[in-house]
Amino acid sequence: MILNGKKFAQERLSGFLTRSKVVKARLGRKPHLAVVLVGKDPASQVYVGHKKKQCEAVEIKSTLLELPEDCSQQRLEAAILELNNDDAVDGILVQLPMPKNLSDFDPSDYILPQKDVDGLTAANMGLMIKGRAYAEPCTPKGIVELLKANFIEIAGKKAAVLGRSQIVGWPMAWMLTRENATVTVCHSKTQNLNEILKESDIIVVAIGKSKFLDKKSFKKGAVVVDVGIHRLESGKLAGDVDVQGFDDMKISYTPVPGGVGPMTVSQLLDNLLKLVEGK
Ligand code: NAP
Repeated sequence: MILNGKKFAQERLSGFLTRSKVVKARLGRKPHLAVVLVGKDPASQVYVGHKKKQCEAVEIKSTLLELPEDCSQQRLEAAILELNNDDAVDGILVQLPMPKNLSDFDPSDYILPQKDVDGLTAANMGLMIKGRAYAEPCTPKGIVELLKANFIEIAGKKAAVLGRSQIVGWPMAWMLTRENATVTVCHSKTQNLNEILKESDIIVVAIGKSKFLDKKSFKKGAVVVDVGIHRLESGKLAGDVDVQGFDDMKISYTPVPGGVGPMTVSQLLDNLLKLVEGK
């Protein structure tokens, strides 16, 4: 079975539109997402464009603040603080990755938790464990929503998460645990990875290595979620997993493109609406 994130993200739009209209009726203005883009990274520009289009589809206002590649940390901090103080801004997203000169800068140290649409501030990470986050990280949350929408049983299953980043791996492991799976977190120092994978019912792969795993890695009937995105020389997109032969093994999987990516943007809309609904 293909876990079609693109289709499910499309299906969620009408519900988001209704929520957005309710907010507008209550506040007298549209919900408002402010996006900050530093530099001209082409992939980031594409992602920001997708987010803008999806916001438009559900009548969320999105504004883009573009800062130059050589922007100083002070300038970026000031921009975020200004958005924090603007009552007409409901959510703030700083598009990652940061340019080289700001590679140590973590925008989530500056964004107000109440406006943290990505759910990546220390406060929201902690509150997530308490079950009270203003918003939770979009990619793993979107993945859980996609699994549920496809009636994938999570409770009681053995899950493996490959990758332990703050954006994907860690919160993914927590969310699957919260859904009552028993989770093994794997990383670059993990030994016996093959054994862990062969025993797992649900595997989320977020390591950032093109076609790193294939059908030999998984057991029959497993569920494989591929978070990786890579632009191949041919121009095509590929994930961390080669899905050839998955149908014969009755493996359910997210395609790349059309799997996790659209769910990340979909969850961003859900998060933004949740932030403004909580006001
Ligand atoms: P990241 O911060 O680079 O983390 C990669 C993780 O993979 C690290 O924890 C690393 O382990 C682990 N790893 C590397 N090699 C491994 C191996 N051989 N076996 C097991 N684990 C290994 O990456 P990220 O930000 O989480 O992103 C991962 C991928 O997802 C990238 O391709 C990114 O572009 C993509 N992504 C997609 C979306 C989407 O919406 N579709 C969203 C976010 C990210 P160590 O900790 O030991 O180094």
